[in-house]
Amino acid sequence: MWSARQAQIQQTRVATSNVARMVGAQVESAMKTASMALSDMAERAKHEGTGEAARERLRTHLGELAKVTPELYGMFLYGPDGSWLATSLGREVQGNNADRAYFQYHRTHRDAGIHIAAPVKSKSTGVWIIPVSRGIYAADGTFMGVALVTLRLNFFERIYDELDIGRTGVVLLMLYDGTVIYRRPFDEKLIGTDLSNGNIFKELRKRPVGSTFLVAKVDKVERLYSYRRLQNFPFLVSVGQTKAELLGDWKRSSMLIGVAVLLISAMLATFATKLVRQIAIRDRLDAQLRLYSGELEKRNVDLRMLAHTDQLTQLANRRRFDEVLEQELRRAHRGRTPLSLIMLDLDFFKQFNDHYGHLAGDECLQRAAGVLSDQIIRTGDLAARYGGEEFAVIMPNTGEDGAIAVAERVRAGIMALRIPHQHSPAQVVTASLGVATLYPGKGGNATGAAAALELIGRADRHLYDAKQAGRNQVRGESGSSAAGSSATGSSATGSSAAGGGAAAANAAAR
Ligand code: GH3
Ligand code: MG
Ligand code: MG
Repeated sequence: MWSARQAQIQQTRVATSNVARMVGAQVESAMKTASMALSDMAERAKHEGTGEAARERLRTHLGELAKVTPELYGMFLYGPDGSWLATSLGREVQGNNADRAYFQYHRTHRDAGIHIAAPVKSKSTGVWIIPVSRGIYAADGTFMGVALVTLRLNFFERIYDELDIGRTGVVLLMLYDGTVIYRRPFDEKLIGTDLSNGNIFKELRKRPVGSTFLVAKVDKVERLYSYRRLQNFPFLVSVGQTKAELLGDWKRSSMLIGVAVLLISAMLATFATKLVRQIAIRDRLDAQLRLYSGELEKRNVDLRMLAHTDQLTQLANRRRFDEVLEQELRRAHRGRTPLSLIMLDLDFFKQFNDHYGHLAGDECLQRAAGVLSDQIIRTGDLAARYGGEEFAVIMPNTGEDGAIAVAERVRAGIMALRIPHQHSPAQVVTASLGVATLYPGKGGNATGAAAALELIGRADRHLYDAKQAGRNQVRGESGSSAAGSSATGSSATGSSAAGGGAAAANAAAR
């Protein structure tokens, strides 16, 4: 938009400069004609004198000249006293122009140059004219009179009206001294006024040709003025166009473009804001979703744990036990590796509950479970609460001897808790354990749930054996463990039951 504005200004600069050049050329040509006519008249007056015959010839000559020079309004010859000697008007006119400024000028200034005066209203016809004159002097310097040529102001007007300088365009023609000769639009009051203090005149004095923005002194309007100083005659021409008019179109189109850009920007801004808001919402939802799904995953893990864990003892529950047992049975069959199962039942626990209460019973169960998780250290082994006060241990890849050894450690560990039990022969809480081992290929080939039942049944029978044999002992396929009987024995000793039990456990471990 800025370069469009600059281009518009440049275009106007060129146009007004061209008009100024044309006007200048026009004025110059008119002045040349006037100057030639004056020389002609002066020469004739000097050589032929101002006698009646000479005047008659001059009148005829001037009449002819007037026909071919339409720019010259009138041509006059005055005697040294200001009386009219000859005119181009074709008739004898009586009058005296001694009072005119130009006449006074030539009478007092003895030079043969031409003199251009401020426009005046013609005495003979009342039209606005520019008097151009020169003095006529004899060879000895005697003042012989004045030759005058008048140019009609409206001759310029006709030319200027044909120029395209816009609606508000201004053409100003001044003399070198700042006197206004003509101004378009025409204003009678301005003709002859002195504009030598005006801005245009100041600018004109700086350089002979130029173009610039100025505020006119006459009407205080800012215009782009192109001006030039004529070289051969003392005239200044300036042509101006108002800034408002020359930038009018540019302003309108700029305004339209500006409004369109603003509208588009506003639309873009609205969409962008909406988009950013949507993205923010999506991000927030995303983060929330991630948070929830993380939480959910954690909850799922917790739930799985919960579903697999016994709440009281934190050991695996019965469901997990069943799953793992079947799984391990299959693995044992596949890998042809032994699998052992320990079943554990606390002794005289009904009496313990009855005597110490259920809460104490629960605590006792938790502590017994603690012994189990302490002793079952091999990865792959699983200690579970089978039900009530019964526990089970699944031991993959473990033969009967190893299983009995672990069972014995557990039995000794529970006894070593030394939880008082008035109604037990050992006076502390004890447990009985049954051990069964599966050797794939040997004996039963049952698989799945049947195999599990079979193994559990065997371990249970051995547990029953242990109970029958006096409790607080371990029983397996090959009968009672050595530790089991010694433990029973020691438990019979009463007060030293715990110490004896511990010794037995140590012996068994050995
Ligand atoms: P035995 O030596 O023959 O095993 O005698 P016992 O009294 O332990 O007999 P049994 O094994 O049949 O006893 C089961 C008792 O265990 C019944 C109940 O009082 C107690 N019991 C079972 N589950 C729980 C439990 O979750 N909490 C508590 N406090 N007691 C339980
Ligand atoms: Mg029981
Ligand atoms: Mg019991």
